[in-house]
Amino acid sequence: MLVENNKYTVQGVDLVNLTEEFGTPLYVYDSDKIRSQFDRLTNAFKGVKLRVKYATKSLTNLSILKLLKSFGSELDCVSIQEVKLGLKAGFSPDQILYTPNCVSFSEIRQAVEIGVMINLDNISILEQFGHEYHGSVPICIRLNPHIMAGGNKKISTGHADSKFGISIYQLAHILRVVKTYNLNVVGLHMHTGSDILDAEVFLRGADILFDTARSFENLEFIDFGSGFKVAYKEGDITTDIEELGAKLSESFKSFCKDYGRELEMWFEPGKYIVSESGLFLVKTNVVKTTPATVFAGVDSGMNHLIRPMMYDAYHEIVNLSNPNGTSRVYTVVGYICETDTFGLDRKLNEVKEGDILAFKNAGAYAFSMASNYNSRLRPAEVLIHKGKAHLIRKREVFEDLIRNQVEVDI
Ligand SMILES: *Cc1c(COP(=O)(O)O)cnc(C)c1O
Repeated sequence: MLVENNKYTVQGVDLVNLTEEFGTPLYVYDSDKIRSQFDRLTNAFKGVKLRVKYATKSLTNLSILKLLKSFGSELDCVSIQEVKLGLKAGFSPDQILYTPNCVSFSEIRQAVEIGVMINLDNISILEQFGHEYHGSVPICIRLNPHIMAGGNKKISTGHADSKFGISIYQLAHILRVVKTYNLNVVGLHMHTGSDILDAEVFLRGADILFDTARSFENLEFIDFGSGFKVAYKEGDITTDIEELGAKLSESFKSFCKDYGRELEMWFEPGKYIVSESGLFLVKTNVVKTTPATVFAGVDSGMNHLIRPMMYDAYHEIVNLSNPNGTSRVYTVVGYICETDTFGLDRKLNEVKEGDILAFKNAGAYAFSMASNYNSRLRPAEVLIHKGKAHLIRKREVFEDLIRNQVEVDI
């Protein structure tokens, strides 16, 4: 987002004009930012066969999936529905990794039929899988390396209390099951959670995977998951992708030499790829002065952007309608009938009723976590691509709320 001639723009498109054309609240994505993040990640790893499996769950719109496909990305999917979205967006089954957790075995069977790579994270499922398919279907195993990554317990998945992955301390048991059923394990996987600050955490996890990998003869890839941290405000520390890329590429190459074969290196970034590409635009309905603060109440709420309430996430807020206004302190809240604070004590250029505010970092886990709570309609989504705005999801209408309801005579 730039300020040009006193207007906020993305690829030259005036954002306040966009809200006049498409209404508010509105999700807006910048294809250039997605491209630059994708390129930055792929350029950081040198001399290795890298495959990027974009974490579909972070932003699932078909046009975003198609855009990523055009950049050379593949997909990581956590539900069979995401797998189907990926196919619909034009990905072939061999480009899709399916990483389920606690799903029914019938969903895994569907994934086998579709022909995607399956990532299993439970010994009992491994046994069921062996019973049904033996070695006929290649699989990946998700390990829990027991390292604590990331600052937020809700998004940290690699620690001892986590429900994800098979503990590396159960390696002997895994190997027994693999041998008994003659399973064809072609990949090992870890995903230690989101918001990993430190390249060292990845490198420690990688060392654990390399050690474990020596027990499997047929590996074709190692998947290092994701969790790269992006900046939410000025001065935020982020994962140093270039440092990680340089160090991990080196240790991976020396591992491959040892292993005797050149394996592929996989990653599954979501937030890193799309978080910063997204803006969430809302309109200020009321400015309300109370004895404690000034509230700016907007035409949206945690039903559309739940991260501040769910993860205490910080989303920077900008008043697009008043680029040169005097800065004042506001508490920005939503219209949902419970406390839904988007931001406390934020300095915004003076806000008048009707002003358009933008939340930054609204690409990942924003629309994809939106709901109809309070019987509100979900917003439209717009992709700005090659200097033009494209509507990629229509705003919901009242009919959408009642479409699947069945009214009985009472
Ligand atoms: C959510 C998830 C990701 C993506 O995490 P980000 O922090 O958005 O990069 C990757 N892999 C798996 C298995 C996930 O569940």
